[in-house]
Amino acid sequence: MKVLIASSEIVPFAKTGGLADVTGALSKALRRIGVEADCVLPLYRSVDRGRFPMQPAGTPVRVPLGHREEAGAVEETDAGGGVRAFLVRNDRYFDREFLYGTRDGDYADNCERFTFFCRAVMEWLVRTGRKYDILHCNDWQTALIPAYTKTLYSREEAIRSAATVFTIHNLGYQGLFWNHDLPLTGLGWELFTPQGLEFYGKLNLMKAGLVFADILSTVSPTYSREIQTPEYGHGLEGVLYERREDLYGIINGIDDDEWNPSTDRLIAAPFSREDRSGKEACRADLLAEFGWRGPVAEPVIGMVGRLTAQKGLDLLSEIGEWLARQPVRVVLLGFGERAYEESMAILGAKYPDRISVRLAYDERIAHKIEAGADIFLMPSRYEPCGLNQIYSLKYGTVPIVRRTGGLADTVIDADEDPQRGTGFVFAGYDAGELSDAVSRAIAAYADRARWNGIVRRAMEMDFSWAPSAREYAALYEKALRKRGR
Ligand code: ADP
Repeated sequence: MKVLIASSEIVPFAKTGGLADVTGALSKALRRIGVEADCVLPLYRSVDRGRFPMQPAGTPVRVPLGHREEAGAVEETDAGGGVRAFLVRNDRYFDREFLYGTRDGDYADNCERFTFFCRAVMEWLVRTGRKYDILHCNDWQTALIPAYTKTLYSREEAIRSAATVFTIHNLGYQGLFWNHDLPLTGLGWELFTPQGLEFYGKLNLMKAGLVFADILSTVSPTYSREIQTPEYGHGLEGVLYERREDLYGIINGIDDDEWNPSTDRLIAAPFSREDRSGKEACRADLLAEFGWRGPVAEPVIGMVGRLTAQKGLDLLSEIGEWLARQPVRVVLLGFGERAYEESMAILGAKYPDRISVRLAYDERIAHKIEAGADIFLMPSRYEPCGLNQIYSLKYGTVPIVRRTGGLADTVIDADEDPQRGTGFVFAGYDAGELSDAVSRAIAAYADRARWNGIVRRAMEMDFSWAPSAREYAALYEKALRKRGR
């Protein structure tokens, strides 16, 4: 079976979040179980062309965009693990400092940029005659591909028999644009209805995937159910409920090459389930990195992530003063909305002995936190899957999470289930419940034998990609059957 994974970001080429980790690791994991997976993404400025030499993949394409045409080229390189990566080039759209926008907001032409990307992929498939059994699209940036497959390109030889799978990595980002952008896509106004791409008068690109793909999936079983409800559906719960028979939840695995405490070169000392002694050196190194010297007896709480409401930053702000009075050290690495950056920086400046904040995107420090912290905090309002809590489990850093989405599917509360517990879980999106969970973790940390048991069980969990890749392969089979193949 041949699969093309389309995504706006894929490790090791371009990354702003979990989407890139997942699409990068999934394509390799599929290859390992015998599925011929390739991937396609835009050729951004940030792609390292020294490390990944590019070659043309076919002749340039002309991409219709509204009433005009835009030139594009597809280049190819080796992504490792047997995966070919195809990168769609148009320097006007993708040779920019960032992927989606600056700190002050999204690029104004994002609809045009990703419409171009989707249609360039279609044109390239048609021109080169490359055939894939499955086009696996991810999030709104690639959602037009399933729509094109069923409409403008449905008769093309290269496309006709392809089945489409659309994976939702985060329903909070839907690609909402004003209705005047519809003609850019080349799709007709007859699709601009509530059953189609319209969303309260606007153009919703995510809906193109939700409506047209043969099979839908999201990145955890709990999130696949949550998004059919008003609380988590971001207004799309109705569409998702209608398609519930075709909607599946598959938890993300993690990339063992990047996140493995026994081989991680970004951390001070390796350690493993069998021999955790290196974690102590990682802890001292982390404390030094955040400006603290000398022995620290209290637990170190780490946090890494985008500073947005989704990640529970308002809850954290609410308990900030309380947290600073607890016997803990808090290290926070994040980058995101200005208001949260400011409130976290203020907290750090006010309590330098307790809270240390680094406003940056820095993989090296993210690894140091996962390895060196005792506790990892992730009080998300919603979390489709979440990777950081999984990295934490693997690095023996006990997670405190809210019971939502993938967090609910991966962490077991150690008070509720002392035999199996791997972390601390609170249910309501409520500052009191969060501070209670933090207190429970601090109390557990004081009991060394109990704590060691929690850490050991966390590190024993298996989040390798192979089982999830097999579930995706089964979804692809389902999608093919839906196409009568
Ligand atoms: P999301 O995709 O919603 O941002 P995930 O937990 O699924 O959240 O994935 C986040 C990924 O991005 C992880 O690999 C995490 O380490 C990384 N990450 C997020 N923020 C930062 C940061 N400030 N510095 C380094 N890595 C970060």
